[in-house]
Amino acid sequence: MFAVHPVDPEAERPLLRAVGENANFHFCANAAQGVCNWLVPAESDQTLCRSCRHNHLAPDLSIAGNLMRWQRVEQAKQHLFYSLIRWRLPTPTQAEGVAEPLVFDLVGDVQTSEGVTRIYTGHDSGLITINIAEADDDERERRRLGLGEPYRTLLGHFRHEIGHYYWDILVRDGKMLDEFRNLFGDERLDYGAALQRYHAEGAAPDWPGAFISAYATAHPWEDFAESFAHHIHIVDTLETAHALGLSIDARAVRDESLKTDVAFDAYHADTFDAVIAAWTPVSVALNSLTRSLGQQDAYPFVLSQTIVAKLDFIHRLIRAQQADTAPVSA
Ligand SMILES: [Zn+2]
Ligand SMILES: [Zn+2]
Repeated sequence: MFAVHPVDPEAERPLLRAVGENANFHFCANAAQGVCNWLVPAESDQTLCRSCRHNHLAPDLSIAGNLMRWQRVEQAKQHLFYSLIRWRLPTPTQAEGVAEPLVFDLVGDVQTSEGVTRIYTGHDSGLITINIAEADDDERERRRLGLGEPYRTLLGHFRHEIGHYYWDILVRDGKMLDEFRNLFGDERLDYGAALQRYHAEGAAPDWPGAFISAYATAHPWEDFAESFAHHIHIVDTLETAHALGLSIDARAVRDESLKTDVAFDAYHADTFDAVIAAWTPVSVALNSLTRSLGQQDAYPFVLSQTIVAKLDFIHRLIRAQQADTAPVSA
């Protein structure tokens, strides 16, 4: 489906065309800022690409460092959109006039003479706000340590917040709400009070058996968003393993569950069973490799059967949505 093509030098600039192909493209308008390298079909009436056309607020470039922050944030957002496009998940824009379009505010804290207005990363009815301060490695690491998290990345933020969005349009407005409540709990629980309690008391000590992260215990919506992010982490990393022709057969242990040949594209996996069977050896291999380099585990999480059941729910939710939509071209 995706391939690398050389650019045809004969194409009439500024249009771009792949060698041997007829379709012409132009760069996304945000290429002028150096924040995007995606293309738009020449016949399209859009100037922005599939990712950038969802931006509502972009960083204030009069502030030193914000161009670099925007570049990093946009790169993570493109990576998110890659997955959404592969799954053919709906990504309606404001221009389409739907009730809950997908919109991004990529902004930092606002400094005024009165003080600082804090911007919180979050989701509200299709609007995803990302505080670009976390594009700075030191700031993101400071927050990760402060919150006691084993993993914190810009891409992880996008994959978490999009989980809230798809809860709205696929679970709340879909056919799987009862099953969601059986697995994740009743989301009608007061969200504000639940978050306050989490921030005051933290997670119960026995959380690891049932939740992917401590924060997932805060409320069923957060559990879903955390699980949704993990589902993308796993599928996207397995797709890379597949592209590399990766197979694992650990010599030190004769354990069938640590053996795999990632012979399938996880974005097309019919069932989550196949995904998790491959993910166990791949994640063990990943962590072993990063430890050999003196780094932290690349995937510092443990998946219990309860957590796998939640990931399986998300897999079926996405597959059911795919079945309802015809393939679309980018
Ligand atoms: Zn773009
Ligand atoms: Zn959240």
